[in-house]
Amino acid sequence: MAEITFVGAAGTVTGSKHLVQCKGKRFFVDCGLFQGLGNADALNHAPLPVEAREIDAVVVTHGHIDHVGYLPKLVRDGFRGPIFATKPTASLMQIVLDDAAHLQEELHVHGYQHSHHPPLPFYEEADVAAAMRLVHAQDLGETFDLLGVARVTYRNAAHIVGSAFAQIDLDGARAVFSGDLGRYGRPLLFDPDAIGAADVIVSESTYGDRVHPEDSIDGLHAALLDAIARNGAVVIPAFAVERSQMLLFAIGRLQAADTKLAGLPIHLDSPMAEKVDDLFANFPNAHRSLPAGCDIATFGCDNLTVHRTAEESKQLNRLKGAHVVISASGMASGGRILHHLHNHLSDDNAVIVFVGYQGAGTLGHVLVNGAPSVRIYGDTLAVRAKIMSLQGFSAHADRNDFTRWFGTCTTTPHLYAVHGEPESATALAALAHQQRGWTAAVAQRGLTVTV
Ligand SMILES: [Zn+2]
Repeated sequence: MAEITFVGAAGTVTGSKHLVQCKGKRFFVDCGLFQGLGNADALNHAPLPVEAREIDAVVVTHGHIDHVGYLPKLVRDGFRGPIFATKPTASLMQIVLDDAAHLQEELHVHGYQHSHHPPLPFYEEADVAAAMRLVHAQDLGETFDLLGVARVTYRNAAHIVGSAFAQIDLDGARAVFSGDLGRYGRPLLFDPDAIGAADVIVSESTYGDRVHPEDSIDGLHAALLDAIARNGAVVIPAFAVERSQMLLFAIGRLQAADTKLAGLPIHLDSPMAEKVDDLFANFPNAHRSLPAGCDIATFGCDNLTVHRTAEESKQLNRLKGAHVVISASGMASGGRILHHLHNHLSDDNAVIVFVGYQGAGTLGHVLVNGAPSVRIYGDTLAVRAKIMSLQGFSAHADRNDFTRWFGTCTTTPHLYAVHGEPESATALAALAHQQRGWTAAVAQRGLTVTV
C-alpha cells in the first residue's frame, strides 16, 4: 500500500508537490514554488510535512518553476536523494533554476537596502548547482527503478519541451501523475501519449472548466494590424521558456501570409533566449521538426531582434513606431516585462496581449480583469492601452483535451483533480465521473489518500 499527500497545487495552480510514501520510502512528484501575490510567499516558507532530509527522491514532470522551483530550497534544507527528470527537462531545469536563484538574490539585495533585518535569500546559485548534481536524466518511455519500491516511466505530456506525465507502479497499484497536460494538434509539440492502465490518476485541472477559443491566431493578427494602424507597440508578456518561441512561430506564419506584416519589427527581450534555442537544437526528438525556411534562431519570424543584456533591453525604451515586444514573465509578476508595461500601459496607441494563464493575484490577472489603474515600481499608471487575452495559445489542456486524454485510459481509475482553482478542479472531477464513470474528487491541501 502507498499513500499520497497533496502538499501543493491543491486548490491552486502553483506549488506542485505531491508526497508519496511507500514501504518506508518517501518521494515527491514535482517540487515547485508557489507563485503570484497574496499568500504565495507564506506558502513557500511554510514547513513541509516531512523534513527535507527525510525525503528520499524527487520525480520531476517538467521544467516550469511551479514544478521544480523548490528543489534548490529542498537541497539547502538537507535533501540528498536522486532527482529524476527527462533529459530535456534536466537541461531546462538548469536554465530556469539559475534564473530563479538570480531573482531571489536580487530580491535579497533589494530587501537589504530597505531593511535592517533582511530575510535570507530563499536559495542561491550554489544551491542550484547542488540540486543539479543530484539529477538523473531519463528517456521518455524507459522504465527505471525508484528507491527499490517503485518503477517509473515517463510519457509525453505535450505541455512544453521535455514535459512528461509519470506512470508510477507502486506495490501492486499504478498511479499516473499528469504533471501539466498539454494539448493535441500543436505546431511545435507532439500529442500527449496514451494513459493505458491506471488505478489512480492525479490530474492537473487548470482549464478543467473551459474550452479554449480557436480564434487566437486571428486575435494576434488583429493586434499586429492594429499596432501598424496606430503606429504603436504590441507588448506580449510571455514565459521566457518556449512560449516565446511558440509566439515567434505564430507571428512568423502571419508575416508570411500577410504582406502588411512583413518587416514589422519584432523584439524578443530575454536573457535566456539562446539557452532556450539550444534546448530546441539539442533535443530534436522532443519537438516536431520546424517547417522548411524556419530555423531555431528566428522560428520563422521576420525582422527579429533578440535583446539579451540589460543594456540591450533598455534600448527598447527608445523605440518609436509600430513594433512588437515579447518579454517575461507571462503573468507580469516580475521580470523585464514590468519595464515595458510601465512604458506602455498609459499609451492609448499600445496593445497589451496576454497569451497564457493569469494566476489569481498577479498583475496580469488584474489587468485582464479590467483594472482602470495599476501600480508598477511605486507609480500609479492609468490603463489606457488596449488589453487583450488570447487563451487559445495556452500550453494547458482544455476540457476537450482532457476528454480525449482520459479516453486513452483502458481501466476505471480514481481521479484526484489538482493544480486548478476550485471551480475548474471541481469541473474536471465532474467530467471524469460523468463522461468516464470514474470516481473522482478534488484534492485538498494536506489530504492523504491511499493507493
Ligand atoms: Zn507547466
